[in-house]
Amino acid sequence: MNDAIAVVRGNAGAYQQQLASLVSIPGISASAFPAIEVRRSAGAVAETLIGNGVANVRLLETAGHPAVYGDVIASHDLPTILIYGHHDVQPAGREERWISPPFEAAIRDGRMYGRGTSDDKGGFLAYLAAIRACAETGALPCNVTLLIEGEEEIGSPNLEALLAEHRALFGCDFIILCDTPNFATGIPSLTYRLRGNCIVDVEVRCLARPVHSGQAGGLTPDAVMILCSILANLQRGIPGLDERVRIDDSQLEAMRALPFDADRFKHDFALLDGVDLTETEPSWEHIWARPSLTITAIEAVPLASASNQIADSARARLSLRTVRDLGSDEAGELLANAIRSHAPRGVQVTTTIHGGPSWWEADPAHPIFTAARRALRRGFGAEPVMAGSGGSIGFVKPFAELAGDVPPLLTGVQDPHSNAHSENESLHLGDWEKAMVSAVYLFHELADFR
Ligand SMILES: [Zn+2]
Repeated sequence: MNDAIAVVRGNAGAYQQQLASLVSIPGISASAFPAIEVRRSAGAVAETLIGNGVANVRLLETAGHPAVYGDVIASHDLPTILIYGHHDVQPAGREERWISPPFEAAIRDGRMYGRGTSDDKGGFLAYLAAIRACAETGALPCNVTLLIEGEEEIGSPNLEALLAEHRALFGCDFIILCDTPNFATGIPSLTYRLRGNCIVDVEVRCLARPVHSGQAGGLTPDAVMILCSILANLQRGIPGLDERVRIDDSQLEAMRALPFDADRFKHDFALLDGVDLTETEPSWEHIWARPSLTITAIEAVPLASASNQIADSARARLSLRTVRDLGSDEAGELLANAIRSHAPRGVQVTTTIHGGPSWWEADPAHPIFTAARRALRRGFGAEPVMAGSGGSIGFVKPFAELAGDVPPLLTGVQDPHSNAHSENESLHLGDWEKAMVSAVYLFHELADFR
């Protein structure tokens, strides 16, 4: 194993070149961008896998963009680890805000900048570096299969179908999903909980057509005012929701014990000077483990076409982040009931529940996490954090189902300065090398895991 780690460290520069070459391909999966580039990206990833000694490499076609498959089967007696990453990227955003061009890798102050450096090309390359170093030194203690998806950034719409179609390829004992952020630079993380989401639309109608506010105002109900009042009432709570939130005491304690820098949070999330957070004692539990409601759109008369009229209708879209044991549809019902309970008599209030991705949570005390923490601790020389995410990740649930009783390991190479999805995305090269070394330790931990 020590030989493999020496090889990983010795090869780090070569992997920077491989990463730079992948970053030069703008494989943006969003529909407004050329699909041919995502295919070119898949081809380049396939070449990279082959160049690193991975066998059976091929593109797996989907109804959308192709994924890349490859494996290194050392012996059928050994356990198999499935490693998932993705090669598609987000659009560059406002190109003028990039200090160096998004699709030209550039190294500054120990970080490599470029779209996809940390999300997620650097993620799967870290594991590839470990696989190659282990194989070359005769120390690969397990079989490895790789699935590098091409549609993660658009919500993995064809992943479940892909896994079902190629079920025979993806039998495994362990799953590593290398696409989640670390808690801090130098502090590795394992993500064990995600919130879900439910989208609900609401429409208020009380007039057959808009009417003159001078002739009718004073006696006539205003759909926009009624919608605002319903939405404002939701701030007081959604009946039945709080009762459904269950957080284990030990997990709550752990979340509250993690450092939470409110000023840093306000800066990262762009709060204007003087604006307060909505909790007086903010902690990670509010993002990771409690539901939250957002009005993501509101629609009535646009300002530009306003006249002295009382509007006949108004609409809003709500996003309710959900937590453990609360299905998206059930959460949507609770929200829709709350909305209807605030509707004035006779006014037409309709709700449409669109649903959304499921929550996911694993037991952070599961022995697989103890083993993985040992590997990350050795690789990073720092205590790993058991982290949550307030967002939803579409790819986790299909893998969690594939893995059965052993939770998938979510651990990637982004740090809080990586700016994934934003301008000037980057990868901390020191942490990247630590992730490669950790991967060698992790393969051995999993090979010994019982
Ligand atoms: Zn990603």
